[in-house]
Amino acid sequence: MLPRPKLNAFQKKILAAGIPVVLLAGLWLSGNSTAVTTPIELTLKPDTGAAATDTAGQSEPDPKQETYTIQRGDTLSQLFDARHIPANVLHRILEADSEYLALETLMPGTELTFQFDDQQALAALSLKLDPARTVTFSRQDDDSFQYGLVEADTHWESQILTGRIEGSFYRSGLRAGLTDAQVVSLGQILKHKIDFRRALRAGDPFAVIIGHEITDDGDEATGKTRIEGATLIRGKTTYTAFLHYDGNYYDQYGESVLPAFLRWPTQRHYRVTSSFDPNRLHPVTGRHAPHNGVDLGTPSGTPVMSTGDGVVSRIGNHPYAGRYIDIDHNGSFETRYLHLSKILVRRGQHVKRGEKIALSGATGRVTGPHLHFEFHIKGRPVNPLTAKIPTAASVPRAELAGFKAKVHREMALMDEAVDPSRQLLAQKQSD
Ligand SMILES: [Zn+2]
Repeated sequence: MLPRPKLNAFQKKILAAGIPVVLLAGLWLSGNSTAVTTPIELTLKPDTGAAATDTAGQSEPDPKQETYTIQRGDTLSQLFDARHIPANVLHRILEADSEYLALETLMPGTELTFQFDDQQALAALSLKLDPARTVTFSRQDDDSFQYGLVEADTHWESQILTGRIEGSFYRSGLRAGLTDAQVVSLGQILKHKIDFRRALRAGDPFAVIIGHEITDDGDEATGKTRIEGATLIRGKTTYTAFLHYDGNYYDQYGESVLPAFLRWPTQRHYRVTSSFDPNRLHPVTGRHAPHNGVDLGTPSGTPVMSTGDGVVSRIGNHPYAGRYIDIDHNGSFETRYLHLSKILVRRGQHVKRGEKIALSGATGRVTGPHLHFEFHIKGRPVNPLTAKIPTAASVPRAELAGFKAKVHREMALMDEAVDPSRQLLAQKQSD
């Protein structure tokens, strides 16, 4: 059975503070709906010279800077044409973006800022990804563009959502206020411990702690959320998962709830033709730029595997990165596979560790066939072949005491939250 430690005053305050946030769940939901928004086309069209029709408000003499909000149906080449920016400038920006694919995530509502020099040539293009992050492509002396990311300080605010199983786990999760993506992620986190189809019974209670990323200045939600903890009670058994700062999920005893990642995305180990390097001299351009992954010398047609369980978050075809796949592994981890010849999955598809997702190839700008493979931890690319990735089965011994203290606090909060009478009590006491 669950221990039921008494809440101290601080925990009661957090719990009480959690209640009004729960009422805002609808707002959070609308803020997170970008997952179902269609990204704009990145197709490069030949420069036809035809200016786009909607240039309202841009007839002022020589604007140095213009901010434009992406509309559904926009394409980058149309936006550049409308501003008389030559197609080769867009190509150079996409070249700078090939290690990041930031322009591939353009969504309706995203703000683009064009900065022009005295000759009305494009000096910089900025892209406000969310209230905390702005990417800027700045023109260099050699007319190439350089990628830069400015990030504001943020913190995470927690919200507790509770519910009971009625019908499917998926519907029960949505009813409790989780977003579609959060239910899918929670399902993937817990599915190795519990059989959702057979084991659950109507009325089984669950609680989930959702973290929302908030800017320190301005108190704005960035739209990023994460599952910080979850409990699901089935009879005498409590299933739990807690996010550790390594990005992995562990149960209350510190045992990993997810299977380890595979280190290699291929059955065989191929020669590394270009290693992960934050400051690589590029073989084609001759410029220094990060190489955010490893290049494996795979012959075209080599089967490519997802290195972990996850959901296909993006599929695209980039003029430099070629055909590519992004896989989201429960929030903290992402893998990316470039230059593919054939993609065997679709966006939104659940994939298993070791599942064949594509055939390698030589699409995009390459010197020869290879697989470019990236591993990201919390949005940062790391060396996939050497980084500390969750291949560990449990929280390291030295971190266990801290982990258990956090688990104890969070379990107490969730445990109280699934019992409404106690929740009301906590609310009353805070009034
Ligand atoms: Zn590469």
